[in-house]
Amino acid sequence: MGFPEFFKRQLTIARVYGIPVRIDYRWFAVVALSVWLIASNLHNHTLQVVNVQVTPHTWPTSWFLGLITTAGLFLSVFGHELSHALMAKAEGIEIEEIVLHPFGGLARLKTQPENPRAEFRIAFAGPAASFLFALLAFGAVQIAAMGNLEATVVVFFLISAGNLLLALFNLFPGYPLDGGRVLRAILWRRTGNIVDATRKAGICGVLIGGMLILFGVYIMVAPNWRAAQPYFMGSWSILVGLFLLDAATKVVKSARDVGLATVADAMSPPVAIEPGLVISRFVDDVLPLHRQTSFPVAVKGRLHGILSLEDLKALPRRRWAATRVQAVMRPVAPGFFVGPSTTLDSAQAVMKQNGVGSIAVVNAQGQLVGFLQSGRIRKKAKTKGQKGNRGRG
Ligand SMILES: [Zn+2]
Repeated sequence: MGFPEFFKRQLTIARVYGIPVRIDYRWFAVVALSVWLIASNLHNHTLQVVNVQVTPHTWPTSWFLGLITTAGLFLSVFGHELSHALMAKAEGIEIEEIVLHPFGGLARLKTQPENPRAEFRIAFAGPAASFLFALLAFGAVQIAAMGNLEATVVVFFLISAGNLLLALFNLFPGYPLDGGRVLRAILWRRTGNIVDATRKAGICGVLIGGMLILFGVYIMVAPNWRAAQPYFMGSWSILVGLFLLDAATKVVKSARDVGLATVADAMSPPVAIEPGLVISRFVDDVLPLHRQTSFPVAVKGRLHGILSLEDLKALPRRRWAATRVQAVMRPVAPGFFVGPSTTLDSAQAVMKQNGVGSIAVVNAQGQLVGFLQSGRIRKKAKTKGQKGNRGRG
């Protein structure tokens, strides 16, 4: 973006439900701009809000109202992101942080949603919260209008309008906007291919970004446009468009990379051993045939655990003949398996932490359908992207 690194350095301003909330220095510039814009409009113009006429305020009152409204808008953006974060939490996903950047916010998740349903819910939670805030604030406008409270009317009206705009803009169907995520979830559900869904939703994001830029230019040059602040609105639209264009282009590019390929694209057929198998037999009969450092343990396709050679080393050789696999294996636990549509990125993150460096792939019916080892991903993942390759059997 060409800003000096200093302005991108992040500050943690709060922790909510244990989630760090961060801003960077550019954010202060946007806050200042918002306060000034609202204050100058309240000072210079007579505004008609619903059925209340708001006469110009003194400078101190205008600044104060600008500050209050901006705080309300800031809380609205935060509430939008918190809504994403809490829905993600409800879907079992941990939250890395909430970042408030100049064009809104971002709830960063530690792992990607595992299925289209979770993705859809998490994406929709933000705009839904914004719609609700808009409605509540508009209710406050109506109440204040009855008492003819000019200042209260104008503050809540701006907060209501801001939330409505936030909800509508975010529902534009271009990834990485919320609407684009909803679109991705729908495409993902339809085809089962998350890579292709991401690419298509990203292309929509590129198109919408481009449209916002053209729209911004049009506002500025169109002779008959009667916008209140054509240059301000135009440059804002161009900036948001550039921001979206940049983000969406990166998404489209990375959808072509290995990172967004799914586990199903990279897994190998599972070489499963039975829990009752004696270790000496395993070492003599199974190990020589398969160059793996860990093996899924299963009975009739049901995962029971993972046997790691590292764990086996702790067992003295003289006990091999008397010990069965189930005594040495790590029993099945959430860190030892993923679904076929999990992204490789999140599968790799899980593998890094589970201590065996590999992971079993279990389908929705609970059947073991594949096995993934961290060292073997790159080569295989090149053959990704074709439709309907959900592992079966
Ligand atoms: Zn959102």
